[in-house]
Amino acid sequence: MLRLHVFNTGWAAVQEKHLYVGGSTATRIVPVLSFVIEYPKGLIVFDTGLNPAFAARPRQYIGWLGNSLFPFRSLPGMNLSAQMQARGLAPEKVSHVVLSHLHYDHTGDLRAFPQARLLVSRPEWRAAQSPFRRWRGYLDKEYRGLTISLLDFPLYNGQTPNRALKGNYGLDLLEDGSLIVIPTFGHTQGHQSLLVFLPYGVVLLAGDAVYVLENYAKPATQPHAHFPESAWRTLIGLRALVKGDPTAVILPTHDDSILRKLQRPDIVIGGAYPMP
Ligand SMILES: [Zn+2]
Repeated sequence: MLRLHVFNTGWAAVQEKHLYVGGSTATRIVPVLSFVIEYPKGLIVFDTGLNPAFAARPRQYIGWLGNSLFPFRSLPGMNLSAQMQARGLAPEKVSHVVLSHLHYDHTGDLRAFPQARLLVSRPEWRAAQSPFRRWRGYLDKEYRGLTISLLDFPLYNGQTPNRALKGNYGLDLLEDGSLIVIPTFGHTQGHQSLLVFLPYGVVLLAGDAVYVLENYAKPATQPHAHFPESAWRTLIGLRALVKGDPTAVILPTHDDSILRKLQRPDIVIGGAYPMP
């Protein structure tokens, strides 16, 4: 049986207007989640959260500009691999790390899984090498020198992720239909998400394709998407996914409100540290 573990690796204080178009100037504390899927032969990680440096010296680590734009914070021992160990999930058992995209709040603990296959979309990898990467949320010291498996989505043609449910749209990770990587471009050039077919219903690990519930509930796109048109199309596709399957749940990286309402034996929430 598949099981999903959710960990919070830190938080940031963000004005709502930066999360969705039409948001207020009120400040919201958002988490930085990471996910671990337990499957019969091992573990799969989706996004690795913040680097341990965010607990001690965030400004030195990310630089003055990054620290003032996105003031992420963490606590000692709150990084993903430390929390996994505390829960008895050995980091060396991780076979794959799926990265939604390469922004530094998703790649922070990447080097804790040297044996795992690292999966990134080809356009995302290209964007993360651009000369302007530092100004676009990429911190290449977190992924420089690592061997990355690049994913192509040859069937991507702008249709909704409903197609993924029929198995002809994304990458079937374990080749049994239980984990499907789908393109959700827009937040960044090559953003991707992971559909997890859990025993009690499908969960979409959205990454930053959806920042917060309001994005797809209203719908209201995120204001700073690198590719706004793709981001909008992705959002509409994700709405269709949830409407088409009432048991489907979308879990973004930076909103735990949906998670708090879920009570399911196949989802383990929390860990050593509470959500913000
Ligand atoms: Zn993020």
